[in-house]
Amino acid sequence: MTQGQAIRGVRIGATPSLHIERGEPVGHQRVDYWCANGHRTIRHFAPHANVPTEWDCRRCGWPAGIDALNPPARPVIKPFKTHLDYVRERRTEEEAEDILAEALAARAAARGERR
Ligand SMILES: [Zn+2]
Repeated sequence: MTQGQAIRGVRIGATPSLHIERGEPVGHQRVDYWCANGHRTIRHFAPHANVPTEWDCRRCGWPAGIDALNPPARPVIKPFKTHLDYVRERRTEEEAEDILAEALAARAAARGERR
């Protein structure tokens, strides 16, 4: 009978010290972004990552830049236009009258009416 040859097992799922396995945790670079509303958004990036010059503000969603004194301009928001607004852009009032008269005449003709 042999002695001192016990089989040493490792429990499945055992987690040895992560720092020994993977090395020391790396640092990070902190970047502050400022929007035109004066909000600060703090992001952390890997040490050698290319840091974006703009980031969306965490509070208001406006673009934020790294220069606190010169934040990016506020976004241009297109006003909502109704279908009628688009029609008015394309046609004058007189053209609209003509088209309406034309459509009414066509409808009257289709019904066999006389005008
Ligand atoms: Zn903001």
